[in-house]
Amino acid sequence: MNIFKDVKEAVSVRDAASFYGIRVNRNGMCICPFHDDRNPSMKVDKRFHCFGCQEDGDVIDFVGKLFSLKPLETARKIADDFCITTDDHKELPAYTSHQKPALSPEAQEQKDFKELVDLAISLICDFHRYWWKVREAELPGEDGEWSELFCKAIDNVNLAGEWLKILENGEEDEKRELLNYLCSR
Ligand SMILES: [Zn+2]
Repeated sequence: MNIFKDVKEAVSVRDAASFYGIRVNRNGMCICPFHDDRNPSMKVDKRFHCFGCQEDGDVIDFVGKLFSLKPLETARKIADDFCITTDDHKELPAYTSHQKPALSPEAQEQKDFKELVDLAISLICDFHRYWWKVREAELPGEDGEWSELFCKAIDNVNLAGEWLKILENGEEDEKRELLNYLCSR
């Protein structure tokens, strides 16, 4: 994906002209902002062409000339103003200050990771609760034999306890390693 291509596909010169306050008549003609125009002599559509001063181009040329911006700045501005998301655009700082900046990729990754940890904790709590009940149900009487299920329940209760300890107090590396292991189970 390419920000220039995305912007050009999404926004026509006619859209941009109207958006930036240039009145476009029904025939797609407007007063040319690039020369001292008295009667509409610019045709705007997907592209623009002025029959007075011969200015001609696409939406990037038009908006760039209107605001005296370089092509990349222009593309960013249009993408922001028209809320176009492009792969290029996501990595760029927000052009306008009124918009809340998106989370950086690192911050987003941290947020996702924290959510995954929280999810794992809640699943492990369920797992722990289940095996605790099994353990209670299988509790051997005095001198009784330990059933296979009782042993398994003890193991799983202990395991859940270890996992929870790591997810709640462990280092990030340990957490990641455990999550990978749990996801592969
Ligand atoms: Zn003109």
